[in-house]
Amino acid sequence: MSSGGNIYCPECGTANELNAKKCYRCGATFPTVGAKPNYGDYDFAAEVDDYHLKPTTYIGWNIFLTCCCCLPIGLLGIIYGALAASSFNKTKYERADKYSEYAYRCLIWGLILGIVLWGLLIMNE
Ligand SMILES: [Zn+2]
Repeated sequence: MSSGGNIYCPECGTANELNAKKCYRCGATFPTVGAKPNYGDYDFAAEVDDYHLKPTTYIGWNIFLTCCCCLPIGLLGIIYGALAASSFNKTKYERADKYSEYAYRCLIWGLILGIVLWGLLIMNE
C-alpha cells in the first residue's frame, strides 16, 4: 500500500503512509491530508528566500558621516543607499542588495577614515 511517498506526523515526525488519516504511532490527526502532505520535506529556506526584505540603505549613517567628518565617502554612501532603495522598488532585489553592501562599505571605511583623521587632529594639538 505504500505507493510513492510518506506523510510525516507534525507531532512526532514519524513517517506514515501518504493516505493515512492519522499517525499510527502517536495517533495525531493530519489536518491537511492531500494538500501539503510532506511536513518532513517542507522547505522553509525556500520560503524565506522568496520573501525579500528591503535592504538597509544606511543613508542616515552616511549623512551623519558626511556632516560630521566632511568626507566625500559619506556622499558616495548616500548615493549607493538611494540606488539600493530605488532598485528595491523596481524589484531588482539582487542589485538592491549589492548597492546596500556598497553603502555599508562606504560607511565602514568612512568611519575608519574619520576616526583616523580625528585621531591625527587630536594628536597634533
Ligand atoms: Zn505521530
